[in-house]
Amino acid sequence: MGKIETKKTIMTIIDGKEVAAALRKQIADEVAEMVRAGKRAPHLVAILVGTDGASQTYVGHKEKCCGECGFRSTVLRLPEETSEEELLAHIDRLNADEEVDGFIVQLPLPRHISEQKVIEAIDPRKDVDGFHPINVGRMNSGLPAFVSATPDGILSLLRYYGIETAGRHCVVIGRSNIVGRPVANLLSQKGWDCTVTLCHSRTRDLKQVAASADILIAALGKAEFVTADMVKPGAVVIDVGITRLPSDKTKSGWRLVGDVKYDEVAPKCSFITPVPGGVGPMTIISLMQNTLKAARHEIYPR
Ligand code: NAD
Repeated sequence: MGKIETKKTIMTIIDGKEVAAALRKQIADEVAEMVRAGKRAPHLVAILVGTDGASQTYVGHKEKCCGECGFRSTVLRLPEETSEEELLAHIDRLNADEEVDGFIVQLPLPRHISEQKVIEAIDPRKDVDGFHPINVGRMNSGLPAFVSATPDGILSLLRYYGIETAGRHCVVIGRSNIVGRPVANLLSQKGWDCTVTLCHSRTRDLKQVAASADILIAALGKAEFVTADMVKPGAVVIDVGITRLPSDKTKSGWRLVGDVKYDEVAPKCSFITPVPGGVGPMTIISLMQNTLKAARHEIYPR
């Protein structure tokens, strides 16, 4: 947890890797306990359709993390030309399989398959990505639900660092169903008690709105969009964005950049997440936590 003293304020760089490692250990300890007690390890299945490079990488990371948590993991690799009907048949089979606690269908899907149909075909009790409308609706109503991984990861970071949220103004930039909208909803709920403003591409005076935030969450997917003049001194800044930019300084030929112009914003903040190493590592951990909850029937008791 790096604390850097600047002229105006003491700024803490939120270390997503450290938090993820601590939570991963907690999960692994709980799984070891389950197995010692004679129960089987949680089992997560990922369905991957086609050969999209980024999706293969994400699924690879999820497999690795399952191993570290002591989970059983299975990846179902299907060819690009898999029909919607075939994919739905796989989902039906996984819904019925008692050896499978949770499963995800890696998005995006090939264009001939309806993502919405696929999401709605997953049994909400196994929907560890938290994308099914039943889980979204339950989450919105403050009921127990599988919450999608990135918003849940953001909340874990706030909790881990003991960041005060009650009564504070939180501005979220980006209203997607997987990040902006759910995190805005959750932070406005009892227990978090933020006053939330949800901004999007049609928001007027975005700079001024952002500059009024005690907690600013940037989730719009535009590299280095948030500049220092959009940030109140002492604000907490959570940068969700990930954009790959070409770079001649790295071996891979690209570098990852967030939605926040880090170098100029960081000195103004009380807390900030770097990219990479901030929100990113938390997303997979939240998926693991959801899978453990599914294995224990915590959200939907039997
Ligand atoms: P999205 O494209 O679905 O949604 C972007 C949102 O930003 C939209 O609601 C849009 O209205 C808003 N927006 C776009 N331009 C804007 C502007 N100029 N001003 C204000 N609002 C604007 O994106 P997403 O899936 O929510 O992802 C957002 C970013 O977060 C992407 O960079 C993505 O790669 C990243 N992401 C990171 C993680 C992680 O684990 N760290 C997880 C999911 C997404």
